[in-house]
Amino acid sequence: MASLPPFENTPVDDIAGICNNIRASFLTHKTRPLDYRIRQLRKLYWGLKDNNELVVEACKKDLGKPTFETYMAEMNWVMNDCIFMSKNLPRFAKDETPEDIDFSNKFLGPKIRKDPLGAVLIIGAFNFPIQLSIGPLIGAIAAGCTAVLKPSENAPHCAAVMQKIISESLDPSAYTVVQGSIPETSALLEQKWDKIFYTGSSNVGTIIAKKAAETLTPVTLELGGKNPAIITKHADPRLAARRLLWAKTINAGQVCVSQNYILIDKEILPAFLKEMKTALNEFYPQGARNSPDYGRIVNQRQFQRLKKMLDHSAGKIVLGGTMDEDNLFIEPTVIQVESLNDSLIVDESFGPFIPVLAVTDLDEAIKIANEVHDTPLGIYPFGNQKEMEKVLSQTRSGGASLNDGFFHASIPTLAFGGVGTSGQGAYRGKASFDVFTHRRSITKTPGWLEGMLDVRYPPFTAKKVKK
Ligand code: NAD
Repeated sequence: MASLPPFENTPVDDIAGICNNIRASFLTHKTRPLDYRIRQLRKLYWGLKDNNELVVEACKKDLGKPTFETYMAEMNWVMNDCIFMSKNLPRFAKDETPEDIDFSNKFLGPKIRKDPLGAVLIIGAFNFPIQLSIGPLIGAIAAGCTAVLKPSENAPHCAAVMQKIISESLDPSAYTVVQGSIPETSALLEQKWDKIFYTGSSNVGTIIAKKAAETLTPVTLELGGKNPAIITKHADPRLAARRLLWAKTINAGQVCVSQNYILIDKEILPAFLKEMKTALNEFYPQGARNSPDYGRIVNQRQFQRLKKMLDHSAGKIVLGGTMDEDNLFIEPTVIQVESLNDSLIVDESFGPFIPVLAVTDLDEAIKIANEVHDTPLGIYPFGNQKEMEKVLSQTRSGGASLNDGFFHASIPTLAFGGVGTSGQGAYRGKASFDVFTHRRSITKTPGWLEGMLDVRYPPFTAKKVKK
């Protein structure tokens, strides 16, 4: 197997030139023909496939990602996206005939053409480094855009492997990778873009949106979590425990859409905690630390942040709680908290913490969920059908999984995105094509219509006005 390529920051002084080339390339119109786009998608597919093992190794180095998780949520995910997009692109890209056009305007042949937005910037996050960078890139290629990808510097091995795959597989005049952190990203934000697609924290999302506003550049923002799970007394405690533990153990809890905290009816709390313990033993019979199926925290900075967060919580650890700084290991940890002002509820943990707050009933849970964050990325009610529908009808969120943790987000062709402060815009499946596409409304006025159109030209005589 080839060895992992090195990660190197792109010199800041080179960034303007790189971006100018990518823009110039768009203006040659070379990325517009469908067969060009499909060829690029196929090349990307093969580039990913040929570097399968490197991706697995890079994900292991960056996040201790279990091989199974890498295939499921990174490699197979984006390779299937390439197949889906190249198969369906001719259908997505076809001119659309709009509905609701009245008879007289049908002569103008109104249609909607799917135009590429232009030269786009994609900024990725660290937690699913491949999926969150290559996924949007697939949409940009499909739409006929040119693109610069800026992967997260916090997953440097994955960032370097993506650069290798992209530079070896794709048209280098149209798609390229810029590596780096704040200085390089800031230099990128100084350039002219036709769209910025950003995945990451809400704080940085605000910086991106402000900068983009200066030039009226459209943005798609895929932002942070703070997602509630709500468990009523009618829920199945074993089912809820297994499903919510899964949602917080995959990628060691570094998942934007996993539940940040659980609001649970006090009647069912003891049974739920018992089932959590059972589920943890079932998932990791030799303990999470010794399991090849449990990942690690991405770096010391995130580890220390999580450690501090747990230290500051007034909650009581009821399960787990062990940490190993040298190994960046944090055990899946259930914490019973008493106050909704506890930092574990107020802040996004983005780690394997499962804070649980007892409530008296569903109304209280809904009230708290709306108070803590009224537009989370996801919401996860467990209960009877009526209760789960009540949660949906009295809350807002980017998406929702009823009777599960974030499973809606595991459907690669279902549009995914936040609402309010958890983000704007959506992608995946056809939405990935749409998010980089301008729907251009077009009509063509036939010459023979002139007689009928005479009415629009001045002078507006009495005869015309009567018409
Ligand atoms: P981050 O905001 O620290 O970094 C994301 C990207 O922004 C990186 O590429 C980074 O280099 C860049 N960046 C960081 N600071 C910057 C600055 N000051 N100016 C310009 N660019 C800057 O996020 P992260 O730590 O990689 O990811 C964690 C966060 O992302 C969590 O809040 C999580 O919920 C969110 N997230 C959201 C989604 C989603 O789809 N909604 C997916 C994954 C992660």
